[in-house]
Amino acid sequence: MKIAIAGAAGRMGRALLAAVAAADDLTLSGALVRPGHPALGQDAGLMVGGVAGVPVSADAGGVIAGCDVFVDFTSPAATLALAGLCAAAGRPAVIGTTGLSPEERERLRAHATRIPLVVAANTSVGVTLSLYLLEIAARVLADADVEIVEAHHRHKLDAPSGTALAMGRAIAQARGLRLEDVAVYDRHARREARADGSIGFASIRAGEIVGEHRVLLVGPSERLEIGHVADDRRVFAEGALRAARFVRHAPAGLYDMRDVLGLR
Ligand code: NAD
Repeated sequence: MKIAIAGAAGRMGRALLAAVAAADDLTLSGALVRPGHPALGQDAGLMVGGVAGVPVSADAGGVIAGCDVFVDFTSPAATLALAGLCAAAGRPAVIGTTGLSPEERERLRAHATRIPLVVAANTSVGVTLSLYLLEIAARVLADADVEIVEAHHRHKLDAPSGTALAMGRAIAQARGLRLEDVAVYDRHARREARADGSIGFASIRAGEIVGEHRVLLVGPSERLEIGHVADDRRVFAEGALRAARFVRHAPAGLYDMRDVLGLR
């Protein structure tokens, strides 16, 4: 299967280049970077200390035409444009970009009427499983106060993380609520006690932390914690490639990692 990577020079892009090189069933067909990037024209393998035999390119149309599955970890604006090109070219795609607005998610949903699309704010198998466990916990501990604490590296732009939001959404939905109605992102400006049913978020940005999430479900006399720590970006890259193997032969539609792992 021929894989093209968008955002190939980025942190996740480089983890994906290494993961594709290590997979027996995958070959790299394209490495897309933003126009004007200094690595343009170099062998893509150089970014991970190897040889890929594929030049780094800014020709999105050419890269998409040459792949079986397009894997995109870039930025919301780039992702929307690239997903449109994938839909026009009939190429399945895996999108790992986070920070998508509700409107941007809707536009992706429209593209998914033409191609199979996996959109996953966190492609780790452990995080996908923790979302599943959180739904059960949220239903059984229906009155517990929920707080979600996440930590990431100092370069991350969006907060709270896409994964923290996905966790909050899973818990709210399991309780028959909408996250928008119960989420509390900032307590600084509020001087009020915790409202029943609210879901609080806290974000840490420091150093080179790859990604940590801890969900506290706190009752009057006991506390359950469900947490996940990513030690290496490899987990996200390997999960994204698992999604690529799934999406290649899937019918057109919008999928997430639960579909990929058969946890629906
Ligand atoms: P990064 O800034 O290191 O890499 C992003 C790369 O995309 C940059 O090299 C940038 O130049 C490139 N880019 C921007 N516009 C482009 C375009 N039009 N064409 C091609 N390349 C373009 O960021 P990162 O840490 O690699 O993360 C990328 C995205 O993936 C972020 O949204 C991040 O939150 C998300 N992420 C998702 C997961 C997951 O499991 N789904 C895991 C980690 C990061």
